[in-house]
Amino acid sequence: MNKEFLFDLLSTGSVSGNETELEKKIYDYMQDKADQVTVDELGNVTAVVNPTATFKVLLAGHADEIGLMVSAVGNDGTLMVTEIGGIYPTTYPGHKVRIYTKNGILYGAVANSRDISKNKELEASDLRIDIGAKDKEDALKYVELGDTVTFDTDVRELLNDCITGRAMDDRIGAYIVMEALAEARKRGATVGCYSVSTTGEETTGNGAYFSASRIKPNIAIAVDVTYTSDNCGISEALTGDVSVGKGPVLCNNPSIHKKLNVCLRDCAKKLNMAVQTEAASGRTGTDGDTMHRTGIGVPFALVSIPLRYMHNPDEVGSLKDIQDCIDLLAEFLVTCTADMDLKPF
Ligand SMILES: [Zn+2]
Repeated sequence: MNKEFLFDLLSTGSVSGNETELEKKIYDYMQDKADQVTVDELGNVTAVVNPTATFKVLLAGHADEIGLMVSAVGNDGTLMVTEIGGIYPTTYPGHKVRIYTKNGILYGAVANSRDISKNKELEASDLRIDIGAKDKEDALKYVELGDTVTFDTDVRELLNDCITGRAMDDRIGAYIVMEALAEARKRGATVGCYSVSTTGEETTGNGAYFSASRIKPNIAIAVDVTYTSDNCGISEALTGDVSVGKGPVLCNNPSIHKKLNVCLRDCAKKLNMAVQTEAASGRTGTDGDTMHRTGIGVPFALVSIPLRYMHNPDEVGSLKDIQDCIDLLAEFLVTCTADMDLKPF
């Protein structure tokens, strides 16, 4: 695993709609690891192995993260914001943030007080970012409406192969699909392998739509993160008994292709790797749903990394789960053949 590159991705700002800096890094990183690397008009980066093969498998991990966008500037020079994706407004007060301006990163502190910290109904529009500006005119010399904002957090290593950082959702997925493709190439995969770091998953799903519509894959695998039932997680009755460090998670729901899950499970068995299982009652809320409904319809599966405190400033995941997911998907790509029959009977 290239930890240095992974941590670099996790330290890069990529709020939905503003993913270019991160996508450029992936584009450069993949140059010598794929047969072809392209970028489309939305900024999706696609790495390809065996570009002339007619049977195509698409792996997608989303490059964008949730965050805020500057919506207005008060007369006192503080910034007002709107939410981009599913943020928790109560996690922001009292924290440092990064504002991604056309002249680089500007830092700010999100205003807090005893009253604000007690307000459980806080909304993004209630937040005020103090950048130290004297007044509105001063602030607007540095900030434009539409600039995006993330927490000012760094990646740190914890005990037992765990890491913490913001928005591992889903920059670890974007990293995983690229490393899996590179590994599958080394191991001689024969089908067309396409790995995409998609844009816009947290807001529009457009990145996955553009990618799958154009690639027209026979199979799509979304790689994302999922809630855990361990350590302040959610009830296992809702989605399953899922823990950090116990392996990639396969999802069962009405639209996920059962034969693909069987194939993924067989690959894990071959690698002597533990996998976990989760259930989703309807849509998965991932790029998988989007890819599934492109073109004439695409069979899909969802492979997830267990993640504690999702959409919080400091999520917790496991490097071991990330490596296992890379190995599992590489094995899957190598196992796929052009004559795979995906009909249920
Ligand atoms: Zn996600």
